Amino acid sequence: MAIRIDGKQISTDIKEELKAEVAALKAAGKSCCLAVIQVGNDPASSVYVNNKKKACAYIGIESLAYELGEETTEAELLELIDKLNRDGKVHGILCQLPLPPHIDEDKIIQAISPKKDVDGFHPQSVGALTIGQPGFVSCTPAGIIQLLRRSKIETEGKHCVVVGRSNIVGKPMALLMLRENATVTICHSRTKNLKEICRSADILIVAIGKPRYIGADYVKEGAVVIDVGIHRDENNKLCGDVKFDEVEPLASYITPVPGGVGPMTIAMLMHNCVEAMKDSCL
Ligand code: NDP
Repeated sequence: MAIRIDGKQISTDIKEELKAEVAALKAAGKSCCLAVIQVGNDPASSVYVNNKKKACAYIGIESLAYELGEETTEAELLELIDKLNRDGKVHGILCQLPLPPHIDEDKIIQAISPKKDVDGFHPQSVGALTIGQPGFVSCTPAGIIQLLRRSKIETEGKHCVVVGRSNIVGKPMALLMLRENATVTICHSRTKNLKEICRSADILIVAIGKPRYIGADYVKEGAVVIDVGIHRDENNKLCGDVKFDEVEPLASYITPVPGGVGPMTIAMLMHNCVEAMKDSCL
């Protein structure tokens, strides 16, 4: 039976460490500030934005909320980002995605200064990760690295299969596992023999966005299974991309949904904010 990786506890540990660090910085007269922009009032985005604001308050990071109407133009949003880029009191800028269809998301991501790109989505941040240079890393994959490290799971020389190649999860995840000296295979919707490839994984990281897709027949005995998916099933119960009940008896470690990868994303966002603030003091 697999050991359940407790993302809730690990994210709490990280937040406590950050809280202490922020308190020490405050005592030295340095404060940390995150600007959170939301355009429109998509209910899911509002929940995410509120959780981010709450985490900031808990850790001692000031958050500036910009709640803009659905009709906000791209030019207006770019103007706000430009103002925040130049504001020395603001260390991180986060623009909640998705944006309304009349706004070009790529343009907005590229407008945020890489120094304040706490989501790690800017092409410069992605490029830095690719060539092993310092820069902000997308929060969900960075959180998964923390889950593995803090659970003392060996990665060096292991075969890691990442299922999913999105810009925010799959691709940065694969690059991070490469940085951890794993041998990495990336799979996607056109991959042939997905089952066979997954079954060869020592560490299987699933981010496909399909509820309970990966069953026991995709998993090698003793593999570490990380489930990034979050869905509500027909009974309104949260579930992941993995058939948890089937896979748990087979795996050595597994992340549950909820309580696995999910809580790590905000913890790593807070981590990135504190790093942005420390870099701005250099
Ligand atoms: P995307 O939809 O952007 O990407 C999904 C990826 O999975 C694509 O690369 C796609 O391939 C691939 N894929 C889809 N179906 C299959 C299949 N049958 N076999 C193999 N590959 C497949 O999703 P995200 O990466 O943004 O998110 C993935 C999941 O993680 C979602 O459930 C999302 O809600 C969750 N998530 C959770 C977070 C957290 O904090 N825990 C944060 C971010 C996401 P192709 O490129 O060929 O289309």
